[in-house]
Amino acid sequence: MKVTIDEERCDAHGVCVSACPEVFALDDDEDVVRVLDENPDESLRESLFKAVQGCPKAAITVEG
Ligand code: SF4
Repeated sequence: MKVTIDEERCDAHGVCVSACPEVFALDDDEDVVRVLDENPDESLRESLFKAVQGCPKAAITVEG
C-alpha cells in the first residue's frame, strides 16, 4: 500500500492519528499531519481504512 496526504486539504485535526498511529503523527505545533510510513504493512489496512473514512477533509489517499 502507498499512503499520501494532500497537504492543501489537511487541517490537522488528527482523526487519522487516532485511527492509525502507526502511520500518522501530529505534534501540537504542526499544521499538517506527518506520514511516518508511506508503505505500511498489510496488517494495517483496516485501521488505515478507518483513517481514510474518518478524515473530515478527504485528504488521505491509499493506493494498492
Ligand atoms: S484526519 Fe485528515 S485532515 Fe485530519 S489530520 Fe488526518 S489527514 Fe489531516
